[in-house]
Amino acid sequence: MPILTREPAGEHPAAREAIFANRLLADAAFEGTSRDTGRHGPQGARLSLLETCANPGCGSGWLHLWRSRSAPVFEGGWNCSAACTGARVAAAVRRELDGRGRAPESHRHRIPLGLMMLEQGWITSAQLRKGLEAQKQAGGGRLGHWLVRQQGVSEQLVTRALGLQWSCPVLPMEFHDAEALTVLLPRLFVDAFGALPLRVAAGKLLYLGFEDCLDPVLALAVERMTGLRVESGLVEGSRFRPAHTRMLSARFPPVELIEAASEQAAVLALSKAIERTRPVEAQLVRVHDCLWLRMWLRAPAEPLPEAGSVHDLIGSIGAC
Ligand SMILES: [Zn+2]
Repeated sequence: MPILTREPAGEHPAAREAIFANRLLADAAFEGTSRDTGRHGPQGARLSLLETCANPGCGSGWLHLWRSRSAPVFEGGWNCSAACTGARVAAAVRRELDGRGRAPESHRHRIPLGLMMLEQGWITSAQLRKGLEAQKQAGGGRLGHWLVRQQGVSEQLVTRALGLQWSCPVLPMEFHDAEALTVLLPRLFVDAFGALPLRVAAGKLLYLGFEDCLDPVLALAVERMTGLRVESGLVEGSRFRPAHTRMLSARFPPVELIEAASEQAAVLALSKAIERTRPVEAQLVRVHDCLWLRMWLRAPAEPLPEAGSVHDLIGSIGAC
């Protein structure tokens, strides 16, 4: 004798309700709530007719279906209440802070620049010795700088050697439209991490230039935030510096800086900003010790959002 008899699916009212609920969940997943959080971009931030709250711990049951909230959306999922926004932001902050130290930080051993240039036959041992002496006397500075300035070594060769050292390309710097690229990342990151967005190719690939050392953490963050593949490379200093200075004086999207005393305080400040701004999409990534929240105020144009349609928030926790 069967201990448990099952009603055929669809016959029992509870079963019908379960099927309805599953369908809603499946719709929500399809619409983007279960998208991989590793790599995003604002694409796909659409809402279905009956949106399901993206907070897995949401306690509002089916009530929220009658709530007239189409925003805010955070990481592809709609949040039915301020409490649910807070819960999802808390999970995202935890995810980002847990990833600290595991990101591809650049501690791998590299052959010293001078030695590499000597091996390539690009400098003589006398030039290297004098360059190192000048560096020592000046109490620092980059060896490449002294080789170019004092020993008449070509800047092109120094950049090529740096490219070999970092196993990255040397990127050309032709026409640079700084104004058009300011929507890619906040001014603070361009300034603090010495990064220079060079151009977007085919709407898919972003060339990110650096003067003498790459920043893989920043590159990964920009990749996740924009949905563009980021190709990092070096740019000759004499071309990089004026373009970098010009870029810093261009107009960037509005940014709000917050210093939070604790992780909880950061979650609260970020959630409040999302509730206040009611973005159609928002995404959180970590850049070194900063949390970068980007909010899209309207559906983004492809491949780059329009200036004025994004709002950034950069948060640091404790003594960061
Ligand atoms: Zn909810």
